[in-house]
Amino acid sequence: MSARAFVVGSGPNGLAAAIELARAGFRVTVLEGAAEIGGGCRSSARLVPGMIHDDCAAVHPLFAASPFFRTLELDVKLAHPEIPLVHPLAGGDAAVLHRDLETTVTGLGREGRRWRRLFAPLVRYPDRIADLALTPLPGSIARHTVLGPRFGARGLPPATAVSGFLGGDTPAAALFAGLSAHAFSRLDRPLTSAVGLMMGLTAQTWGWPVVVGGSGQLTAALADYVREFDGTIRTGVLIRRLSDLVGVGYRGASAGDVVVLTTTPGHAAKILMGNQPARRRRRYRRFRHGAAAFRVDLAVRGGVPWRNPDARRAGTLHLGGTAREIAAAERMTTSGRVAENPFILVGQQYLADPSRSVKRDGEWLHPVWTYAHVPAGYRGDVTERVISRIEAYAPGLRERIVEVSTRSTAELEADNPNYVGGDVAGGANSPRQLLARPVLRNPYDTGVNGVFLGSSSTPPGGGVHGMAGFAAARRAARWAGIL
Ligand SMILES: Cc1cc2nc3c(=O)[nH]c(=O)nc-3n(C[C@H](O)[C@H](O)[C@H](O)COP(=O)(O)OP(=O)(O)OC[C@H]3O[C@@H](n4cnc5c(N)ncnc54)[C@H](O)[C@@H]3O)c2cc1C
Repeated sequence: MSARAFVVGSGPNGLAAAIELARAGFRVTVLEGAAEIGGGCRSSARLVPGMIHDDCAAVHPLFAASPFFRTLELDVKLAHPEIPLVHPLAGGDAAVLHRDLETTVTGLGREGRRWRRLFAPLVRYPDRIADLALTPLPGSIARHTVLGPRFGARGLPPATAVSGFLGGDTPAAALFAGLSAHAFSRLDRPLTSAVGLMMGLTAQTWGWPVVVGGSGQLTAALADYVREFDGTIRTGVLIRRLSDLVGVGYRGASAGDVVVLTTTPGHAAKILMGNQPARRRRRYRRFRHGAAAFRVDLAVRGGVPWRNPDARRAGTLHLGGTAREIAAAERMTTSGRVAENPFILVGQQYLADPSRSVKRDGEWLHPVWTYAHVPAGYRGDVTERVISRIEAYAPGLRERIVEVSTRSTAELEADNPNYVGGDVAGGANSPRQLLARPVLRNPYDTGVNGVFLGSSSTPPGGGVHGMAGFAAARRAARWAGIL
């Protein structure tokens, strides 16, 4: 009789773990607490009938870069906007990140040369850099003795230092600060530039594609893969204790069964109550969550009337102003105060995938996806700030908005328990937690025999890459003596 594997959670990491365990020969069951599968990779038409919005993840450079997902033949179509990213600036100007380095360099004027110095050594080896950044640290650094230092030397300093290298208050510096703000962290902390480099590298090599038909199509394709291996996926099954798994066929570690949890460490500690060694349990309970997202979706007649012409062709926009302004806003947000001008991401996925828009009374309605950075657990509403901020770069937006839908930090967490206080990154990206996530050595081991952790609270962190689930599954298969 084959060993059984139970995966808790059906986000990208849960489904990646399920696929890897099924490939290793386990009989796999995925248990999802929500009514729908996908976790942070779903889409819906809840704003306007027929108009598709991504509920969470929207842009998929990490899917394209993922060493694991690239081994699968998934029935998924990616589409690229003409321009991956535009960072609007005062007076209708903008810094533009193109899909190839030299076009970006040309557009950045005087600072272009410095931008090239930063990225040229990385874009030369994109696959190896992705492997380095997306696989657990010690092994990959050993494998990339040349590339490791090359990435490390650039990624170690705070993003503010790299913005300084790019001229401080220049468009290039603002562009880099916006990329680094994906860390949801203070930009004057070490290692934040690694996030900016990775985001910039992916845009300038693989681009920032979207999934045709919405991110939910990627989840559907991963789920099909699980089912092709006779795996079972059950929804509406919230696991509160390890013993809950007995009801769905778990026979325990002594029978060779394995469990991969794709929860936060805090939730894992509760599920494993009484079974975890005290030290590991303490570390899990002390795991820190970071700043939050406040989601605002818009249905916009004719699209956003950006003043900057490149912004009308961009899949993603970063609204935050200069590098200094972004660093100040992120400092405030992470210290618990909402910024007057919070950092905002805007997604125009419909430009690459027109099938998401609908025609109403002879006019096109387009889905515009946004979120603002707000403090952890923020109880207020920043919808008005988000709309005003977009309007500052796109006068006339307000008259074009047909529908608005928001999701507060509490609603995000109610939707998905992994988003503690609205933290969508799986945990604070502090220097400590960038390295020890949630612990330095064997980060996928929970300390309980046969039970592993593989969510975005483990390396390599947030994003739709499946690498945490994949690595936890490998660890589980090795424990079972299969690999
Ligand atoms: C607003 C937003 C925007 C984002 N944008 C992007 C983007 O553009 N690109 C990108 O790459 N990433 C993006 N992300 C991040 C990305 O979605 C996550 O990093 C990724 O989904 C993490 O995958 P995961 O499998 O670890 O966890 P999740 O996707 O969060 O899935 C965890 C699943 O486990 C379930 N679960 C939790 N506890 C239990 C339990 N006890 N029992 C049963 N089920 C349980 C949850 O319901 C959930 O379905 C975004 C996230 C959000 C929220």
